[in-house]
Amino acid sequence: MDSTYAHILDGKALAQRIQAQLTDEVAQLLSTYGRPPGLAVLMVGEHPASAAYVRGKERACAKVGIASFGRHFPTNTSQIELEQTIEALNQDERVDGILVQLPLPDHLDAVSLLHQIHPDKDADGLHPVNLGRLVRGEPGLRSCTPAGVMRLLREYQIDIKGKQAVVVGRSILVGKPMALMLLEADATVMIAHSRSQNLKELTRSADILIAAIGRPKFITADMVKPQSVVIDVGINRVSDSSGQSRLVGDVDFEAVRDIAQYITPVPGGVGAMTVAMLLHNTVLSYKRTQS
Ligand code: NDP
Repeated sequence: MDSTYAHILDGKALAQRIQAQLTDEVAQLLSTYGRPPGLAVLMVGEHPASAAYVRGKERACAKVGIASFGRHFPTNTSQIELEQTIEALNQDERVDGILVQLPLPDHLDAVSLLHQIHPDKDADGLHPVNLGRLVRGEPGLRSCTPAGVMRLLREYQIDIKGKQAVVVGRSILVGKPMALMLLEADATVMIAHSRSQNLKELTRSADILIAAIGRPKFITADMVKPQSVVIDVGINRVSDSSGQSRLVGDVDFEAVRDIAQYITPVPGGVGAMTVAMLLHNTVLSYKRTQS
């Protein structure tokens, strides 16, 4: 590799190491307490990308020894049926983590379902209680994607304290918790969004730039500060000229890697870390119930 290129932050390799550690830990927990940690992933409908994500999560669970209690519901499932399912899983002592795979069909109220999950089983860290704990800087289950980014930054010993961090995107799933986690790590944080003015000026001020936008190759080389750290959360499916479909991030990787000091690839960056953090959260919830 040309030495002028940015270092790759290898989320895939780190996720594999985390999963190997979790495999040992789960085996030990099983022999001590007589049951494995359990995760229930609930999916409704036939969204193809969601189905692939759910399969990936269940495969990862099986690899580390976490039991899966997931269910796949038909598109016309009612709100009440899902609420009853979540309530039963809240009571089920074999289940330590519950997550509802988004998006849901239009007739369902995703936020209300999320609120039904017991905060101590909220494997995705999206329940208001867990988001509130994050705001207060208290321990709790942290949202998986931003937690994965923080773990990746720590692994590569990237200095965060006092640095200028710019998060592009303000969703409750990624942008907002990401900004709070960077703040917790003593970065000076700015959040940009679709109404931000002079976006290029903002992004060029970032020592650490996080792109969580959902637009393919939106962050171009001229938007990036030389020698900065660029984290690409985006996952966008695009078709190339030959009609082949592939995944690209929110960052123009090929151009930005000439400028940045560190960069995450897509795939193989943040996405892999998200799954590792989900498994981590499930094991954390399990350990809390045993102590
Ligand atoms: P949302 O659509 O919920 O949020 C996108 C954010 O980007 C919004 O805050 C929006 O601003 C902002 N935005 C959109 N257009 C612009 C623009 N032109 N300029 C500046 N800001 C803009 O998406 P998510 O946060 O859920 O996901 C973001 C991306 O991350 C997606 O590609 C998604 O697939 C990916 N993702 C990846 C995960 C992983 O594991 N790697 C996990 C979750 C998501 P506004 O609020 O003003 O509309």
